[in-house]
Amino acid sequence: MKFISTRGRAPSLSFADTVLTGLASDGGLYVPETLPQFSREDIAAMAGLDYRELAFRIIQPFVGDDLTDSELRDILERSYQHFRHSAVAPLVQTDASEWILELFHGPTLAFKDFALQFLGQLFDHLLKKRGERVVVMGATSGDTGSAAIEGCRHCDNIDIFILHPHNRVSEVQRRQMTTVLSDNVFNIALEGNFDDCQNMLKASFADQSFLGGRRLAAVNSINWARIMAQIVYYFYAAVNLGAPHRAVNFSVPTGNFGDIFAGYLARQMGLPIDQLVIATNANDILHRCISDNDHSPQPLVHSLSPSMDIMVSSNFERLLFDLYGRDGNAVAELLADRSAPMHLDDRALAKAREVFSSCRVDDLRTVEVIREVYESSGYLLDPHTAIGVEAARRVRRSTGEPMVCLSTAHPAKFPEAVARALPTQEIPLPSHMQDLFQREERMKVLPNDLGEVQRFMAEALG
Ligand SMILES: *Cc1c(COP(=O)(O)O)cnc(C)c1O
Repeated sequence: MKFISTRGRAPSLSFADTVLTGLASDGGLYVPETLPQFSREDIAAMAGLDYRELAFRIIQPFVGDDLTDSELRDILERSYQHFRHSAVAPLVQTDASEWILELFHGPTLAFKDFALQFLGQLFDHLLKKRGERVVVMGATSGDTGSAAIEGCRHCDNIDIFILHPHNRVSEVQRRQMTTVLSDNVFNIALEGNFDDCQNMLKASFADQSFLGGRRLAAVNSINWARIMAQIVYYFYAAVNLGAPHRAVNFSVPTGNFGDIFAGYLARQMGLPIDQLVIATNANDILHRCISDNDHSPQPLVHSLSPSMDIMVSSNFERLLFDLYGRDGNAVAELLADRSAPMHLDDRALAKAREVFSSCRVDDLRTVEVIREVYESSGYLLDPHTAIGVEAARRVRRSTGEPMVCLSTAHPAKFPEAVARALPTQEIPLPSHMQDLFQREERMKVLPNDLGEVQRFMAEALG
């Protein structure tokens, strides 16, 4: 299968090159030239499959000849071996025709493990085959860093450097990164904010000479392999709830639009989904876009659901590409000035609204929902998931079809919000993490200075 850029001016690439390249040279994002199609019969035959076998069937058509079947099966086996629930992505019912899809049984307790465990294994395999090594460099405000580190810690052909803003991530989040003591893992605590970390990253990708010939790779959420891995659990949940014999709908706590875009792709591939709910916190650019055709960046608001604190969602570009008839020039024109307000034309907006609904939920309501759901069903939601549940309840079109709310994090990861909702409730970390606060930490605190950061990296790599 070939992959093409959403801006239409970069060369098309194979699967392996797409994964290793990340951003296209014209500034666009890679998408498959065509999507594999699954018929009703194909989907019916997915009933009862193990998660890894289902993942194989969904992912294999994208991979083409770049991996043999046994290589792909092996990568998938290793990707999901550290998940602590045998169903990998179990469903829990919280109301009549409302389910929670628990995506937090991976090593870092957030759904990002689904993509990053897979991406680490996939990178390592492709690099070994080519006899190459890369340096993964990333910036994090919390969840992505730990998931990337867990995904790469066992990889022979990857060194990973993650920058986080010093003293500005939660203690659980910091310790999930800094207590990984593998030789190929380096944590940099930068004396600055998240934007400073990102600027460091941009400058380093733009001029990689400080690495003395080694190459940087990115694992951010625009990487195609991350989106692809996330398509699988939409099929898994829907098939377990009766697809293809009935339609199933999803509500997704949304930040960069990667997770919900995977749901959109599942629908384009034949899965019967009638409604996808974009659930946002106060950073509501996508909600304003769908409801009022107002896609204008607003200043960032720090919320109780920090993993959704995003001004502009990078993966939205992939949807725009479809809405504009896969015309790369139209997308390039629309996005020429990212800081300017964007308005969709009537046809594109109508097309988006056929599938997507949206809803914005503020901190106050998030806390109330955590309390209400706990009192009515005994189920404890993390703040991101609570936003998805509230959004689903407010805008769902059908009560007859199941609504699946994606649970993107374990409540113990965000104790502040849960404590506001239920001050007396204990929220212990899962057993494999109970000693997190006793574990040894390793990180390098560095000033907000590009030269110092790059010197540290070059020395660490030897
Ligand atoms: C990353 C993240 C999200 C947002 O996912 P996107 O793919 O960026 O839309 C939501 N919840 C949690 C807990 C996350 O870590």
